[in-house]
Amino acid sequence: MEFPEVQAFEASDSEQDAADELARLIEALGTTAPFVMTSAHGDTLVSSLKGVTLTVTPPPGATQQWASELGSSIHRSGADVVVAVGGGRLLDLAKLAAARAGLTIIAVPTQLSHDGICSPVAVVPNEAGVRQSLGAIAPRFVYLSIPTLMGATVASVRAGMGDLIANPLALRDWALAAERGLTDMDQRAWDLSAESFELIKPHLTDDPATLSRDPVFVRRLGDALVMSGLSMIASGSSRPASGGEHEISHALDLLFGSPTLHGAQVAFGCVFSAALYGEDVPAFRRQLVRLGLPQHPGQLGLDHEDVVRLLLAAPDTRPGRFTVLEQADLDEQGAANLVKRIWAGD
Ligand SMILES: [Zn+2]
Repeated sequence: MEFPEVQAFEASDSEQDAADELARLIEALGTTAPFVMTSAHGDTLVSSLKGVTLTVTPPPGATQQWASELGSSIHRSGADVVVAVGGGRLLDLAKLAAARAGLTIIAVPTQLSHDGICSPVAVVPNEAGVRQSLGAIAPRFVYLSIPTLMGATVASVRAGMGDLIANPLALRDWALAAERGLTDMDQRAWDLSAESFELIKPHLTDDPATLSRDPVFVRRLGDALVMSGLSMIASGSSRPASGGEHEISHALDLLFGSPTLHGAQVAFGCVFSAALYGEDVPAFRRQLVRLGLPQHPGQLGLDHEDVVRLLLAAPDTRPGRFTVLEQADLDEQGAANLVKRIWAGD
């Protein structure tokens, strides 16, 4: 297991300075022929790179097959590294393509919407358009350009926080599975996941719109998401950062076509885990309201029957994983009762 190197550029608020620094870093890694995958948001950051073999922007709806075919072109291009500059969707496509090409990847996120920035997992749609989590190679290097990340949307910051809110619940699910002898625990992975949540915990009562304009917080959110990804690398599985709440998010992808950003879906999924663990659900929901994250089915265009379907489908999204959802083993009536209990007053 090798941890990626992480470096942040925060010396100035100029994205061009960050781009120059990125070009220097890539040369210092001994790579001379980068293959660049970038979104429109990454144009400035890639402008100083030297020796670029090819630059590609993924089309909307790019699939696993697209990534795999791209992997072959990358291989043929003679590139010695993949530099991926963009949001979560782009980084995940790049991880798959790089794995296919047998190359390492340098991840340069332009927004901080989930902890896949630095994880060994790629979430990419299949040919039917359903997002699936696939094993891939974690990046070799992560570059956080704070001037770039300051330009990201508030929605992405909300979602990034949503993905981290899952960690304490995912850890409880992990312990639950370990108690039953279904998996091993790994203290280092556990601590990384717990610490990543601790980094953002003091900000859960702040306004994400204000936070998204604070360079110190943006750096902190980047560090937290990277750390959460490291916990998955350390454990060799997504368990430390992905429990029942992620199964709910996967079921949202599968049944309802991904109604919102991954991190926001995960935050919504946390409501069920919190309820099943006997947490103070109204307080938890108020916290999500403050953060501007979905905490009511209506915000995702779902009615109560949809949510029952969601709860029944969630465990099958991750066969072999044991979480509080599998422990609850809800039938239709049980799911309906849970939904009623959570949203009784609404
Ligand atoms: Zn996640």
